[in-house]
Amino acid sequence: MERTDFTKTTLADTPLLSASKPVIETDELYDTVIIGAGLSGLNAAKILSQAGKKILVLEAQDRVGGRTWTQPVGANDFVDLGGQWIGKGHDQMYKLAAEAGLKTFPTYTHGKNVLRLEGKSSSYKGETPPLGLFALLSALKLMYVFDRKASKISLENPWMMENASEMDNRSVGSWIDETISNKKARIMIKRTAEAMLCRNLENVSLFQALVNAKATGSLKQAEKVEDGALSDRISGGAQGVSHFLYSLVKDSVKLNCPVSFVTQLENYMLIGNEDFSVKAKKVIVTAPLPVVKNITFSPELPIEKQTLINSMEMGTVVKCNAVYDTPFWREAGLSGSMVCLDEIVELSVDNSVPGSDRGIITSLIHADRAKELLQLSEQERKEILLKAYANIFGEKALHPILYIDYSFTNNPWIGGAYSGLLKNGIYSKYGKHLAKPSGNIHWAGTETSTLFKGFMEGAVLSGERAAKEILSQN
Ligand SMILES: Cc1cc2nc3c(=O)[nH]c(=O)nc-3n(C[C@H](O)[C@H](O)[C@H](O)COP(=O)(O)OP(=O)(O)OC[C@H]3O[C@@H](n4cnc5c(N)ncnc54)[C@H](O)[C@@H]3O)c2cc1C
Repeated sequence: MERTDFTKTTLADTPLLSASKPVIETDELYDTVIIGAGLSGLNAAKILSQAGKKILVLEAQDRVGGRTWTQPVGANDFVDLGGQWIGKGHDQMYKLAAEAGLKTFPTYTHGKNVLRLEGKSSSYKGETPPLGLFALLSALKLMYVFDRKASKISLENPWMMENASEMDNRSVGSWIDETISNKKARIMIKRTAEAMLCRNLENVSLFQALVNAKATGSLKQAEKVEDGALSDRISGGAQGVSHFLYSLVKDSVKLNCPVSFVTQLENYMLIGNEDFSVKAKKVIVTAPLPVVKNITFSPELPIEKQTLINSMEMGTVVKCNAVYDTPFWREAGLSGSMVCLDEIVELSVDNSVPGSDRGIITSLIHADRAKELLQLSEQERKEILLKAYANIFGEKALHPILYIDYSFTNNPWIGGAYSGLLKNGIYSKYGKHLAKPSGNIHWAGTETSTLFKGFMEGAVLSGERAAKEILSQN
C-alpha cells in the first residue's frame, strides 16, 4: 500500500470552507439571526428556513460544526476531534445521519480489553474490568444507588426535587467518597465520572451529575457501548451531519463573523461586530454560555441569565489519536480498548475505520489530567501517549504514521468540552432560566437541552426547541 507521510500535517493545513470575509446584506430585516453554526444553530436554521423564515447564521470560526470536527487522516480514514458516538435514544442524530445519506457503524469491541493497574496489564472480555469481586460489587452498588436517585428526578422541573438545593451544594466527589469505601472501586467510579463530566468531581454538584445522568437515560447507559450512548459512529465522521445541515442553509450562513454585540432597538435588534451589523426581529444564541461573555447585550440580560453565564465553566478533555499502518493489536486478539486507573492515559478505544487497512487508537484524557497534559508540548504529549500504548499493545505502538491531538479548551469560540456545567449551588436556583428566552433573544446549545445535555443529540434538540419557540410566536 502506498504510504503517505501525514507527519507534516497540522490542523492549520486543512482546507477551510471560506477564508475570506463574507458579504452580508445589511439592509435586510431578518426574521431570525442565529449566533453559532454548530449542530444546534444549524438545526434551528434548517427548521426556520423550511418554515419560510428569512434567517442568517453568523459563525465566528472559518468552519461549521462547532464541537463536531472531523479531520481526514488518509484516503478513507478520519478522526473526530470532537463528538463521535451516538447511541440509544439519540433519535434525531440517527435521523439526520440517514437524511444526509451517512451510514452508521458499530463501535469496535471485538477481542480482549486491557485493565492497566499498578504498572501491570490484565486482559478481560466484556465491559467489566477484573478489579476483584468486592470492588466490582461496591462499584455496582454505588451505580445502582446513583441511578435510583436520578430516576426520581423530573427532567422538566428538576429543581422541584426535594433536597435539590442541598444536593446542589454538595460535590459528587465527596458523595462518592462517603458512599464507597473500597479504594479500587472508588478510583474506578471517579475516573468513569470524570470521563463523563470532564472536570474534578469536587467542582460538580451531586444534583447536576444526577440531572445529567437522568437526561442521558442513566449513568449505566451513558458509559455503555452496547445499547448505550457509545454504540455507533457515523461514516465519514460526525461533522458530516453538520455539513449536511449546512448544505440546506448554505446561502444563509456567514463564516468568520464573530458577534460581539446584540442591541435591542425600538423596532428591531442590531447584531454584529466592529465591521458589520445586521437587523433582526429575533436572535438565537447557541454559543456555549462561558463564551457568551464575548458578546455585549444592550439592554443588559436579566440578572438570572447573567448569573448563569458567569457561573458556567466548560470541562477539559484532550482527544489523542495515533494512526498506524495496520490495526496490529487485533492480531494479538486485543480490542484496542484499555482502562487505566493510575496513569495519566486513562482509556483508549479502537477508532479504525471499517474497510480501511489502517488502525487508529484514540484516547480521551479528562479533567485535571487533561489540564496537566495541556501544559506540555504536542511532542511531549505524543511521547507520553505512545509509551502508554506500547505498554499495552507492544513496541509497534511507538511508530504511528500520524499522531494528532486536540483540545477545545484551546478554541476561544468554544472554550472546552464536552460541555459546560454550572458551579455548585447554581443549577437548583437558576437552572430554570437556562432555556428561557430573554425578550427577543432565544437560547439553544446542548447545555440548554432537557434531554441528552452535553451530547450532539442535546444540541440538535435544543436547536429544534428554540426554532419552535419562535415559530409559535408568529
Ligand atoms: C472532544 C469531544 C468529544 C465529544 N464526544 C461526544 C460524543 O461522542 N457523542 C456526543 O453525542 N457528543 C459528544 N461531544 C459533545 C458534542 O460534540 C456537543 O454537545 C455538540 O456538538 C454541541 O453542539 P452545540 O451546537 O450545542 O455547540 P457548539 O458545537 O459549541 O456550537 C456553538 C458555535 O457557536 C460559535 N460561536 C461561539 N461564539 C460565537 C460568537 N460570538 N459569534 C459567532 N459564533 C460564535 C462557535 O464557534 C461554535 O461553532 C463531544 C465534544 C467534544 C469536544
